[in-house]
Amino acid sequence: MTVFTPAIASADIGVYGLGVMGANLARNLARNGYRTAVYNRTLARTEKLMALHGTGDEGTFVPADDLADFVASLAKPRVAIIMVQAGSATDAAMEQLAALMEEGDILVDCGNSLFTDTIRREKWARERGLHFVGAGVSGGEEGALWGPSIMPGGTEESYRRLGPMFEKISAHHDGQPCCTHVGADGAGHFVKMVHNGIEYADMQVIAEAYDLLRNGLGATPAEIADIFTTWNAGELNSYLIEITAEVLRQVDAETGIPLVDLIVDRASQKGTGKWTVQTALDLAVPVTGIGEATFARGASDSMVQREAARTLAGGDVALRVADTERDAFVEDVRQALFASKIVAYSQGFDLITAGAVEYGWRIDKGALAAIWRQGCIIRAAFLDDITRAYADDAELALLLAAEPFASRIRDCVPALRSVVAKAALAGVPIPVFASSLSYFDTIRATRLPAALIQGQRDYFGSHTYGRIDKAGTFHTLWAVATRPEEQWD
Ligand code: NAP
Repeated sequence: MTVFTPAIASADIGVYGLGVMGANLARNLARNGYRTAVYNRTLARTEKLMALHGTGDEGTFVPADDLADFVASLAKPRVAIIMVQAGSATDAAMEQLAALMEEGDILVDCGNSLFTDTIRREKWARERGLHFVGAGVSGGEEGALWGPSIMPGGTEESYRRLGPMFEKISAHHDGQPCCTHVGADGAGHFVKMVHNGIEYADMQVIAEAYDLLRNGLGATPAEIADIFTTWNAGELNSYLIEITAEVLRQVDAETGIPLVDLIVDRASQKGTGKWTVQTALDLAVPVTGIGEATFARGASDSMVQREAARTLAGGDVALRVADTERDAFVEDVRQALFASKIVAYSQGFDLITAGAVEYGWRIDKGALAAIWRQGCIIRAAFLDDITRAYADDAELALLLAAEPFASRIRDCVPALRSVVAKAALAGVPIPVFASSLSYFDTIRATRLPAALIQGQRDYFGSHTYGRIDKAGTFHTLWAVATRPEEQWD
């Protein structure tokens, strides 16, 4: 067992938790010139990091085999990043560190924590004189190593100490760091949660587009990869489209079969999509695209039900596009994908707006869109347009109604309708395409059948209703033959 020599108050920053993300984040910090203290519960991980990268070529690490030594090695005010599993592991790490830290020190949780836990932890730390920063980090292991998108919450004061380091190690877009102080306490983890929710919707619409092309064109995965590569050169340009083409091109070395055809069709999830939907329900924000994408993963994993449903007639889809219509169909699917993507992002930003109101955060949505342009999983060319839209009007009521999205969605909706109709007739499941279209038609409607719902509610539960022609709250005595109406306030 290695015993590391303690180095007193010499490190700029420390990383507790040297799993995939923690080790790479530590290497990123060291490479950028910060003396980085490293500690892991299981010493073997620290030893491995030092054996592989501790030669000095990648910068300076200050390893510790004991937590007290780790804390003592940090320069004051100390900054310690926790990069462990969300939940009880984060609580445990935080409590151990807090016991060894002093007033003014900064604890940073870079895991995927639930924002309400971050709000609780920030209060807990503040009561002990410590700063607590919940920072969303996106970009996976490569991002952590070479430049993620970082979304820190916490106090202004903690950002003054931490911000320059995070900005330096983050991805950059047009020379600008993909890191900004999002807002107080849980704001950083809140927006990271919504980022992941949007990621769910983005991945699902890409998968639906793939399924339509596969069924409609009878194309091979490699041929569809070429279509995605073409799309990636235009307005759909994004990391997820790019990697989709690569996944589709992959051939299994053993069998020669496209790998995608050998992968079990059950999508997993770690919970950030679910949290986004739960939060959206709490705040009454219709994030239908994210919701359907999350349920689609659940449906794919509903093995008992899928097995039971196999006996239903017509399980095989029959979408065949005539040779003369192939190009038009591909373009329709591309436009349907873009329209659905606009809906998903617009809904995600609605949730951020509602969260900011509920929790008292001042979130600059333009700055947020700007830091999602590089480093993170949902990085996409059209985040430039979102950045500009919020720069023009920080209080935009609805992203999809702002230019250039309003024009683009208007142009793309006929294709979305056509694709949804064809898929419905042929039996291809397209939950996010379909819900995006319904959301669009709902949100732009001048009058909705919600009026009838209000009537029904008042009928069975005296829940009252408002009227379009006069102010007040009304109740009708529906069961009485004359149906008299009363004004309740
Ligand atoms: P990982 O490779 O599984 O590593 C987990 C780390 O947590 C290990 O260092 C482990 O220490 C430590 N740990 C677990 N329970 C602990 C406890 N009770 N006390 C102290 N340490 C404990 O995980 P990861 O992929 O790096 O993810 C870390 C965090 O980053 C998670 O919150 C994850 O959601 C988030 N994240 C991950 C990604 C990604 O792409 N992987 C992207 C963004 C955010 P031992 O070695 O002792 O077990």
